[in-house]
Amino acid sequence: MRLSQYFLPILRENPKEAEIVSHRLMLRAGMVRQSSAGIYSWLPLGHKVLMNIQRIVEEEQDRAGAIQMLMPTIQSADLWRASGRYDDYGKEMLRITDRHGRDMLYGPTNEEQITEIFRNSVKSYKDLPRNLYHIQWKFRDEIRPRFGVMRGREFLMKDAYSFDLTAKDGRHSYQKMFAAYLRTYERMGLKAIPMAAETGPIGGDMSHEFIILADTGESEVFCHRDLIEMQAPPADLDFNADLTPLVSRWTDKYAATIEMHEPERFEREVPEDKRIAARGIEVGHIFFFGDKYSDPMGCRVQGPDGAQLTVQSGSYGIGVSRLAGAIIEASHDEDGIIWPESVAPFKVGLINLKAGDAGTDGACEDLYGKLQKAGIEVLYDDTSERAGAKFSTMDLIGLPWQLVIGPRGVKNGEAEIKNRRTGEKQSLSFEESLNLLTAPAQG
Ligand code: ATP
Ligand code: MG
Repeated sequence: MRLSQYFLPILRENPKEAEIVSHRLMLRAGMVRQSSAGIYSWLPLGHKVLMNIQRIVEEEQDRAGAIQMLMPTIQSADLWRASGRYDDYGKEMLRITDRHGRDMLYGPTNEEQITEIFRNSVKSYKDLPRNLYHIQWKFRDEIRPRFGVMRGREFLMKDAYSFDLTAKDGRHSYQKMFAAYLRTYERMGLKAIPMAAETGPIGGDMSHEFIILADTGESEVFCHRDLIEMQAPPADLDFNADLTPLVSRWTDKYAATIEMHEPERFEREVPEDKRIAARGIEVGHIFFFGDKYSDPMGCRVQGPDGAQLTVQSGSYGIGVSRLAGAIIEASHDEDGIIWPESVAPFKVGLINLKAGDAGTDGACEDLYGKLQKAGIEVLYDDTSERAGAKFSTMDLIGLPWQLVIGPRGVKNGEAEIKNRRTGEKQSLSFEESLNLLTAPAQG
């Protein structure tokens, strides 16, 4: 993409309304613009990041055997009356009346809707287990929308729903999502720690929030320091195997949100130098709730012996749009964003230090063409801005690599390559530069 033809409205000044760094940087880097409180447009750069996050979520859901679909944003109130949540949900639900006077709502989540679809489509235990997911915009009329996309009113969420015959099978479905989530966040360069979370009336140990430690987080959390060093499961994990040992490696170490925190147990189980009491950002929540929706909504299947059995379910959310902010909270410096390669909007920022000069233009065009041919996404700054402004824009938008071409370099056949994360700069021949940038990503 040529910057001269792109849409990248950079802000040079810090926007006053932004209280935290990710919000500030997303506005400054031209990723999002507020439309009204807690409602954002995703501009091209932000949209690319959002889609990259979404792709990783999809790949890891698919790998774990979940099946993608898409449910609408607008739902009928009757569905929610059937589960008993229409009145309970309160003011966070945006209620709408259509022209025929029917009560509708903008979905804050989809348990009712998926349960209805499942109930009407599946009749036999032979069609279980299944896990269905979608990635769709949600609306919750949050009392305090803030921190940009981190607590929006309209936000993009991945929500998956598992359907099993027994609670024991349900546990396995839960564990699959547990493992998939660990991989999902690790691929985005994040350390998300699964922490025991509130389960509601059913109780049990089958509710975890995935938390990224950050001072700007809204959750208060407590955990064992060793959890930060733990590795996510490998890509070739066998999801059909017994996942209890894998999950236990994580859950054996203390980690709890404030709602579940037991101070005495924390002190007993965690040595003092390993105790972390911190703030965190909730980037996902998995939850097994048994027949909470299937029972009132009559979602039953015929079991092997002919009896009607109520389906056992769980739901599994990931805050896709919140993650864009969370990744920035975890990865930035005073100059701007530092994107992990897996979600970066472009891999390379190509900077022409003297646009209009035949030599630098020629070298840049050649490199731009070759990188694109190799399948590398490049943002080519072909504008006539000053060098200083070009450098600060590239640092701000945080592309992993900067490839800088100036008249002196062209004379010697050399480019300067900067690694945005380490700040390390090296002078390389054009060919060496291409080799470095087209090499398969490490990590
Ligand atoms: P929170 O405690 O932050 O309000 P929640 O418990 O209401 O979250 P869930 O219903 O479990 O959230 O939704 C799944 C995921 O969706 C959350 O883990 C979070 O990452 C994301 N999410 C929830 N509310 C918002 C919001 N207002 N803005 C952006 N993302 C959100
Ligand atoms: Mg909430």
